[in-house]
Amino acid sequence: MEKIVLEKIQINKNKLTYFYSVTDKISKYFMPTREYSIKYEMNIEGVPKNILAIPFVCNVLPISWLFDAEIVVEELDADFLNSVNPIKNSYQNMYPNLKFMGELKCEKIIQNNYKPLKVAMMFSGGVDATATLVKHISEEPLLINLQGSDIKLKYKTVLDNVQIKLQKMAQQYSLPITFVETSFREVLNEKELDMFISIVNDNYWHALQHGIAILSHAAPIVYLKKIKTLYIASSYTKGDNAKCASDPSIDNMLKLASTVIYHDNFDLTRGEKIQLINNYCENNHLSLNIRVCFNERKEDNCCKCEKCYRTIFEIISRNGNPKNFGFDLPKHFLRKAKFHFKYKIIFSPAVVVLWKKIQHQFRNNPNLYLDSQYTWFLNFNFEKSNNFIKKLYASVCIFAKKMLNK
Ligand SMILES: [Zn+2]
Repeated sequence: MEKIVLEKIQINKNKLTYFYSVTDKISKYFMPTREYSIKYEMNIEGVPKNILAIPFVCNVLPISWLFDAEIVVEELDADFLNSVNPIKNSYQNMYPNLKFMGELKCEKIIQNNYKPLKVAMMFSGGVDATATLVKHISEEPLLINLQGSDIKLKYKTVLDNVQIKLQKMAQQYSLPITFVETSFREVLNEKELDMFISIVNDNYWHALQHGIAILSHAAPIVYLKKIKTLYIASSYTKGDNAKCASDPSIDNMLKLASTVIYHDNFDLTRGEKIQLINNYCENNHLSLNIRVCFNERKEDNCCKCEKCYRTIFEIISRNGNPKNFGFDLPKHFLRKAKFHFKYKIIFSPAVVVLWKKIQHQFRNNPNLYLDSQYTWFLNFNFEKSNNFIKKLYASVCIFAKKMLNK
């Protein structure tokens, strides 16, 4: 059986580094340097190793399941350990075409008990997270932002500027915020993993990794701050039938000692979330600077990636002004959008569902339905768009996989 062994956790004040080994057959799914370290803004020396091991374990669990490998850890928190099998079952239900095997072994199981008091939430500063913030603002949640998730650590200036923006946002809402810097996305060879799971028609990060990998980074914080509930904002809506590693069936199973997880706002569409934020800001005279962009080299929204476009069209569909949400639209925006939609952007099946909802919202809005500048958008076929590129990419993946297995 293949093995992933957590040999040692080195702790230095607010930073931890994992030392680990992996057996030969699965080593190609890890980056050669694969240094895995996490920096918190608080001293974590008093946090037990059975809690500190959780981010590492969550980051490699899906690999152990896919390749029938055994994860070996010295000690783990009992509540977390009990949550692993239900999570695995949820993955299996979501992806019946993949086989989830593997084992998690630890020598010592420790029960950590604390009286949970406050609430916290993962906060990226995007639409989903801001809607969750607005909804739970009376609970005064501690905001936790992960650096190294959507924006790589090498883009230090961008991360620093995003941090300043998020600090300002937290100040606007009079809430505390803490930042976690992690190299977790530099540990795995995502390209190899993408090819391995090409059957599910999605990338590894989105399909299998990000939910529990992100949430688990909060483990030392929720332990130290005695957090009762940790919220994570939903990206999809009940009924979408979207397959995604961050799903209530997965996230809500996770336990971090005495802290429970709640996958929030799963009953709201992205448009309804925008409406919620808009209403809150209007009532409280706040302006917004939401960051949703996929372009990790810019701290501002690029207004030309799929996520920016999706948010802008969503805001327009609700009669909002994208400028009030932090989108500085370029000249001839709609003309540029039409060109990008037709020739550049790949709409994965997971986002086609969301685009169709926006089209539906446009059709129900007479202001937009009768406006001829949106006719092309109303008739746009997201399923067929750029299918040639999608097929080409799939063929390249299959070919590369065959060559690698030779
Ligand atoms: Zn963008």
